[in-house]
Amino acid sequence: MMWILAAAALLIVLCYSVVPSFSLRYLQTSKRKKAGRGKVLYLTFDDGPGGKDTEALLDLLDEYGINASFFTVAGFAEQYPELIVRMRGEGHLIGIHSVHHDNALFRGNKFTYSDLAESMFTLKKLGCDVAYYRPPWGHLNLFTLGWIRRLNLRLLFWDVMAHDWSDKETPDTICTKLMHRVFPGAVICLHDGRGEAGAPARTVEALRMAIPMLLEKGYRFKRVDDDE
Ligand SMILES: [Zn+2]
Repeated sequence: MMWILAAAALLIVLCYSVVPSFSLRYLQTSKRKKAGRGKVLYLTFDDGPGGKDTEALLDLLDEYGINASFFTVAGFAEQYPELIVRMRGEGHLIGIHSVHHDNALFRGNKFTYSDLAESMFTLKKLGCDVAYYRPPWGHLNLFTLGWIRRLNLRLLFWDVMAHDWSDKETPDTICTKLMHRVFPGAVICLHDGRGEAGAPARTVEALRMAIPMLLEKGYRFKRVDDDE
């Protein structure tokens, strides 16, 4: 009897969150691979703003004239409003990535709506025109799909990650992973906040190496909304 209940619970979680999350991410990547957009890459940063590390990242992007897309955590945006203003002023796209980085996997309708609406409200108060959403941990649930449509949000996952949040990685290993994993049209997901000890600083150092090499290979960088 117990195993039937356990199997039923697992099936519900799979249908409610895991399958929609992974299948939508897979479909987005397949679509981008087929789109043939040439040697374009989309740098995206989650989990910030992260104080000094985000400042260093913005300095680096400015050095190369690159516009990126930031999926900000609303709680951190309130903590560093000056960084949101700077991102906006320097031409970066600002999307939402929840209020406190909670996982939607086991959450219901009420939480799902308030997490999206409160994130939008916070960022709009800071002058941002919010149109894009990336779910924390890459997990959404069936209610998320309804709410993002009603709130006019576009869902954006990623194609390439480099485990830059992990303290097992170094700037060299992050850079090497990026160089091996990118493909024309890829959305790269890195992090300018949270992560294990010193994580965002390693990400900035990795990019300091990777950006010139990617430019050398003929890649250009765009915001995720540049081709829409
Ligand atoms: Zn995140």
